[in-house]
Amino acid sequence: MAKCLIKSCKLKAERHHIKTRKSGGSDHAKNILNLCRKHHIEIHLSNVKMSKKYPEIKEALISKGWEFCDMMKSWVNYSKSIKRTIKKQCKNQAVDKSK
Ligand SMILES: [Zn+2]
Ligand SMILES: [Zn+2]
Repeated sequence: MAKCLIKSCKLKAERHHIKTRKSGGSDHAKNILNLCRKHHIEIHLSNVKMSKKYPEIKEALISKGWEFCDMMKSWVNYSKSIKRTIKKQCKNQAVDKSK
């Protein structure tokens, strides 16, 4: 059984889908974070806050191909499995700002 990703936490983990299955997220390892119940609830409140609070969350997201988009103020994944529209949206907004 996997342990919680948070280093200081020794509890056994459950699987968190970074992109929820409802919105098309897969069961691929790149979309899964192992977190205990407590940290799992916490990441559902805000994965942005969570990634700021715990460097191991940020590292895990980056290692799984996620990037923080300043325009959307959220973590996005530009890999093929995730909808391209997200990338477009994000890039378009970024371009607009630079004008
Ligand atoms: Zn979850
Ligand atoms: Zn934990």
